[in-house]
Amino acid sequence: MSRLVLLLLLSASACAPGLIDGPVADTARAIAKEVDEARLYADVVSLAGLHASDTRVDCAALNSTADTWCNLSNATARRFVEERFRSLGLSPEFDTADTHPATSNVLVELRGTSKPDEVILLGAHFDAFFMGADDNSSGVAVMLEVARLLATRPLARTVRFVGFDFEEIGLIGSTRHVKARSRPKVSLVLDCVGYSDSAKGSQGSLPGFPTPSAGDFLAAIANDVSRPRVEEVLQVVKGQQTPAVLAIIAPGLGAGPLSGNLMRSDHAPFWLAGESAVFFTDTANFRNPNYHTRSDVPDTLSQAFLAGVARATAMSVVAWGDAP
Ligand SMILES: [Zn+2]
Repeated sequence: MSRLVLLLLLSASACAPGLIDGPVADTARAIAKEVDEARLYADVVSLAGLHASDTRVDCAALNSTADTWCNLSNATARRFVEERFRSLGLSPEFDTADTHPATSNVLVELRGTSKPDEVILLGAHFDAFFMGADDNSSGVAVMLEVARLLATRPLARTVRFVGFDFEEIGLIGSTRHVKARSRPKVSLVLDCVGYSDSAKGSQGSLPGFPTPSAGDFLAAIANDVSRPRVEEVLQVVKGQQTPAVLAIIAPGLGAGPLSGNLMRSDHAPFWLAGESAVFFTDTANFRNPNYHTRSDVPDTLSQAFLAGVARATAMSVVAWGDAP
């Protein structure tokens, strides 16, 4: 039997009362209502189009001639994120590392009004195979939408938005970020957040523990350290217009042999450093048949699901950013 513990969300009894109640939750929910579904999807289309036409990462450098690896791109998507940050009046910084191939995350910070040294991080990787609509233009678009909503509305704590580079070749960008930057109080990582299918049997089981049969929920994955944060997510999204949120808790740091599938994105370096991080995902290849193929294109996504994830993301970031 798996040691993983599955919590079905929206169970109010699982939530510690307090931190996210009252005015903080009201503010978070009001901001989340401003998510613009059409704008969000347009960003996915733009990013996927950039990946389709981008110069590929040199596949020889990756020691591979496989079609998938020779269709990994990052440069124009990074520029898109950088230019969007600038258009919001923010000044992007970069975590650059001389790895092979070289890595360059792009990030901005919205300085907190009363607790500026405490950082809430929202991140998504911008490198992608083929067009990468779900993986991970969806996550990048949600991050940019939340940046738009908060750019003129600082929270008590600093919010750091990070486009991570080269998640796909071993979490290179996020590993670099954890080493190079001050540690966030909590991080929220988005990877594959746009694919939904309400048909029975559409959701594959994450090996070792059960999931619902229909693939129309948002998985919110935490480890033991991060568990209080995911309980706060459940609390703030309760009754709001989001997909059902399914909390999945990996024991310990999350690095045990049974939880490998829960470690497959940019939250993992934070977990391994003992930090709090929550991972939002549609579960990628356990649901989406287009994962890492040419058919991961925008019109396979659910715009309504994506917008609901953006609302859940905005509510979480605002709640953590403004909580007492
Ligand atoms: Zn991904």
